[in-house]
Amino acid sequence: MKKMLLYTALFSAALLQAQKTYLHCGKILDTESGEILNEKNLVISDGKIIEVAAGYVTPADSGDVIDLSGKTVLPGLVDMHVHLEHETNPKRYLARYTENEADVAFESTVYARKTLMAGFTTVRDLGGSGINTALRDAIKKGYVVGPRIFSAGKSIATTGGHADPTNGSRKDLMGDPGPKDGVINSPEEARKAVRQRYKNGADVIKITATGGVLSVAKSGHNPQFFLDEIKAITETAADYGMLVAAHAHGDEGMQRAIRGGVKTIEHGTFMSEETMEMMKEYDAYYVPTIIAGKEVAEKAEIAGYFPDLVVPKAREVGPKIQGTFAKAYKKGVKIAFGTDAGVYKHGDNAKEFQYMVEAGMPEAEAIRSATVTPAMLLGMKDQIGQLKKGYIADIIAVNDDPVKNIKTLRNVVFVMKEGVVYKNEHTKPE
Ligand SMILES: [Zn+2]
Repeated sequence: MKKMLLYTALFSAALLQAQKTYLHCGKILDTESGEILNEKNLVISDGKIIEVAAGYVTPADSGDVIDLSGKTVLPGLVDMHVHLEHETNPKRYLARYTENEADVAFESTVYARKTLMAGFTTVRDLGGSGINTALRDAIKKGYVVGPRIFSAGKSIATTGGHADPTNGSRKDLMGDPGPKDGVINSPEEARKAVRQRYKNGADVIKITATGGVLSVAKSGHNPQFFLDEIKAITETAADYGMLVAAHAHGDEGMQRAIRGGVKTIEHGTFMSEETMEMMKEYDAYYVPTIIAGKEVAEKAEIAGYFPDLVVPKAREVGPKIQGTFAKAYKKGVKIAFGTDAGVYKHGDNAKEFQYMVEAGMPEAEAIRSATVTPAMLLGMKDQIGQLKKGYIADIIAVNDDPVKNIKTLRNVVFVMKEGVVYKNEHTKPE
């Protein structure tokens, strides 16, 4: 009933003005300090948190009350590395020749919904065809249910590199993709590719600084950009207010990316101690995606799941990421939560928290890396990632205290995004 009321309220500005929602929160996680606070009342109006008070307040007016007194409430989570257009599948490599854009678009709406229902109210989509950007807009307009998206559109590669869209194709289908398709081979082309992405509506630039596991190519870790090309990308991106994220497994390519001004290193598999120091010096962030590594290593053992060229890379790279993360965290490298969703099943994003905790990161810090830290990196530090007066009402709840039991984040029972309730499963057992 309440859910319906809130949906209806969306279409009536007047009603929305008057409508307040009161959340009675048994426990609240302060994501900045990592502390759990007891019995708080959150008042939501017009998509924002307008009041945070002690105890449970019952509205004198017509406000709705949502009873979360038995739950732990925290801000909506952020995944800094997803791919909402696709999901792992043994037929994936053929799909680009069989699926139309519309097929991919409809499919992406399912993954967007799953992601939101798992408690991720904001994501960074680090590479697709451009449907990811259209999906962002459709969600913003309310046509599709999903998280707030920061889209990279199509990522930028070099010829034959990871994310060259015609890798592994028959020669006559390969063509010669250029900057428009995200393939560059000089600083000039690099600038053009960034400007093209700006024109297409991208929020962030993604490059594939080294070989990758899932591309049909031999090396999973060779450097694939020259330093001047990376610099041309980051400098151009900066002109348009965009940060650059770099996929990187190998150490040399990673170092070039960091020196070139990239803000986040994705995967980081073979990161040396020297590179970890460099990350700190350049104020770069590590987005580990441990879950994706584990999943591809598992899938590599299923005969025929991946093309032959991919299997040895998946076996080599996949299991290493968690160990690298453990070392990097210990060394003080800054971490931002990201999972590479799509390489594993959408909606399982929170499994990454378990892997981070297993590798030595305290629970509260892992949650901070998925709230406060990404809010800052996305330029929304005063809007998301915390439950404070004036912040956007992106709010989730779980059955248990996640600082004591991180696994509880895999069972999100309540999801509100911008003041609208999308999920409210009060009685769902752990
Ligand atoms: Zn990725």
